[in-house]
Amino acid sequence: MPTIEVRNISKAFEDSIAILDISFKLEDGELITLLGPSGSGKTTVLRLIAGLIESDTGEILFDGIDISNVPTEDRNIGFVFQSYALFPHLTVAENIAFGLETRKWVKEDIISRVVEMLELVDLTGKGKRYPRELSGGEKSRVALARALAPKPSLLLLDEPLSALDMSLKESLRDIIIEIQQKIQVSTIYVTHDQKEAMEVSDRIILLNEGQIIESGTPQKLYLTPKKQFTAEFLGVTNLLVGTLIKKKNQYLFETSFGVLETLAPSDRTISEEKIAIFPEHISVSIKKTNQINEFSAIIKKSSFGGPYIDLVITVNSTDLKIQITSSQIEKMYKKGQKVFISIPKEYILFLEN
Ligand code: ATP
Repeated sequence: MPTIEVRNISKAFEDSIAILDISFKLEDGELITLLGPSGSGKTTVLRLIAGLIESDTGEILFDGIDISNVPTEDRNIGFVFQSYALFPHLTVAENIAFGLETRKWVKEDIISRVVEMLELVDLTGKGKRYPRELSGGEKSRVALARALAPKPSLLLLDEPLSALDMSLKESLRDIIIEIQQKIQVSTIYVTHDQKEAMEVSDRIILLNEGQIIESGTPQKLYLTPKKQFTAEFLGVTNLLVGTLIKKKNQYLFETSFGVLETLAPSDRTISEEKIAIFPEHISVSIKKTNQINEFSAIIKKSSFGGPYIDLVITVNSTDLKIQITSSQIEKMYKKGQKVFISIPKEYILFLEN
């Protein structure tokens, strides 16, 4: 499998810039996700790599060789579209065989490859059906088998789960992860769903307005976001502005609800003014616990969500969101109840401006 590199690609459509100066590398067998809100340029990047559109600037390299002028059919890329785009007049087996015929595989090889692919996506015995005779989940598996049949060097998946309901989403997600790991095909996955991205990816590239905001493993991006956009997009809801001051060996962050003791911000000067705190990193208790960064607060809202309880608490006129597991609960927190919250130093994240 080749190493794939996208180097400084930009693309504008008439009056708008779709992507601007995007660069990333994909290692052999890696699954990376392009994650971002609608219109952030994810599909444009995929279409450029597939050769369906041309970039204005930049290069796309397969094993160090620029393939910008190589036509789509010669790039050896498998593509699964959001809509699956199965050929309605062809059977499942014929859909899977399609790319093999255009690549002039010999008949016996096509037959055995189709059998192998049907087995891979758990559709053995359904080769003679037409797409209209399949469920949504089955259609998506045919699309995956069709894309993988010609042994592509790169698999591109554009929102492959978006047309499916919740339970089918999870099962196809598991199939994709399992197959991708089994055959080790380098894969670029596109989604706007941060949970899905964290579940499937080796690495996430977060896009907004056509530019890369931040990239890294799901754990790195989620647990230590550097940018406010990343923190917000991945679900951190407590973003606070304030002033960081150093007092002897202590770092203190002055917020609207009080002073927080923090760890030393690494590689930074002490002019930080934005921090993020995850709702699940704030603990809440009925009695004072004398832990660090403890404040008294009032419950403003409590919603029971099964395994989790979402609380909104007010501390010195500032609202904070807290998520606790149902098993942690001492007793049902009610609106207006007085509680104590504490925020461990290590969970206060400094964001770049
Ligand atoms: P979504 O999640 O909604 O599919 P996306 O992140 O994939 O969005 P793109 O489809 O890549 O975003 O679009 C990026 C920007 O480029 C958008 O502003 C879009 O309107 C614009 N765009 C994309 N394709 C075209 C086109 N063929 N002509 C004009 N503008 C386009």
